[in-house]
Amino acid sequence: MSIKIQKNILLSKYTSFKIGGVAKYFCVAENNDEIKEVLEFAEKNKLNVFVLGGGSNLLISDEGFDGLVIRIKNQELRIKNNRIIVGSGLSLAKLIGESVKNNLTGLECLAGIPGTVGGAIVDNVGAFGKCMKDVVKEVEILDIGNCQPEAGPPWAEKLETGKLNNKECQFKYRSSIFKEEKKYIILSAVLKLSKGDEAESRKVIKEYLKLRTEKQPLEYPNAGSVFKNPVVDDSHLAKLIKEYPELNKIAKNNTIPTGWLIEELGFKGKKIGGAMISEKHCNFIVNTGNAKAEDVVILISLIKQKIRSRFGIQLREEIEYVGF
Ligand SMILES: Cc1cc2nc3c(=O)[nH]c(=O)nc-3n(C[C@H](O)[C@H](O)[C@H](O)COP(=O)(O)OP(=O)(O)OC[C@H]3O[C@@H](n4cnc5c(N)ncnc54)[C@H](O)[C@@H]3O)c2cc1C
Repeated sequence: MSIKIQKNILLSKYTSFKIGGVAKYFCVAENNDEIKEVLEFAEKNKLNVFVLGGGSNLLISDEGFDGLVIRIKNQELRIKNNRIIVGSGLSLAKLIGESVKNNLTGLECLAGIPGTVGGAIVDNVGAFGKCMKDVVKEVEILDIGNCQPEAGPPWAEKLETGKLNNKECQFKYRSSIFKEEKKYIILSAVLKLSKGDEAESRKVIKEYLKLRTEKQPLEYPNAGSVFKNPVVDDSHLAKLIKEYPELNKIAKNNTIPTGWLIEELGFKGKKIGGAMISEKHCNFIVNTGNAKAEDVVILISLIKQKIRSRFGIQLREEIEYVGF
């Protein structure tokens, strides 16, 4: 086997939260052949598999992951007119940098979002009114749906590559078929951008990055927004507005910013162990130094419980739990 598989690797090093226990097995796959090779290793050893991108949307348990973590690092990038063919392991930052350099526009809003192209597609990341869905033309996948230990060997024979078009990706708010079904590894994607102007794109990006630094607690390890922004129906919203008139301005399209809800609880700066609700943005939980996953979990459940009883709203996590 050409690819190196390591044992007992601490995952906190690979997450933006700097939280997470040990992976029983860990490897970095730099191309599609290596991805297939490690899947065969998982098959032989009857291991569950977790596909890791940049680790920027994850809460990994203190117990870690009892299986094989494959860190995807295939980083090809080709540009043909206004199309970009990009490996899923390339960082979103590098992708945006290259698109701008080549006078292509369409990704500027996403500047400053950490992680890989694969993770960005899985989570249908978005900011400032745009999301991945707007640029993805086609996604190349490896179907590993039959490749879990309970499916029995041989996996390798069951591995199928395929392509999904934009509609088949079933993009939703911070989600997609990849997030919901967990049976595909994204290998690459074709993105469709528009002709732009490098200087103009750079100017726009600078503005977005400035807004991020002002609003997000980037000085601490975190995993971005912890919860999705909830959508409530008209009568629920009307009831809430009666009690909190400022919501009339804040709620757009029946969507209430979670940060506002949490701040309203008086939870700004609330700490459990090393985990703290950011003072800068209440939908961020930050690791103040030595937070355990357990601290974050307790804080999350406290927030959910209080929001439910105070506002009648059930919050849903945007971050993903691994190894729980
Ligand atoms: C400071 C900060 C700011 C953020 N701002 C935003 C924001 O503005 N908007 C927003 O939407 N998000 C934001 N996020 C969240 C996060 O950056 C995104 O969700 C990101 O796309 C995750 O990508 P990743 O590569 O880190 O994926 P990971 O966190 O490693 O994984 C996320 C999911 O994708 C899966 N995955 C990763 N790669 C592949 C692949 N090749 N094939 C199949 N599955 C794969 C993983 O298994 C997992 O299910 C922010 C996070 C931070 C820390």
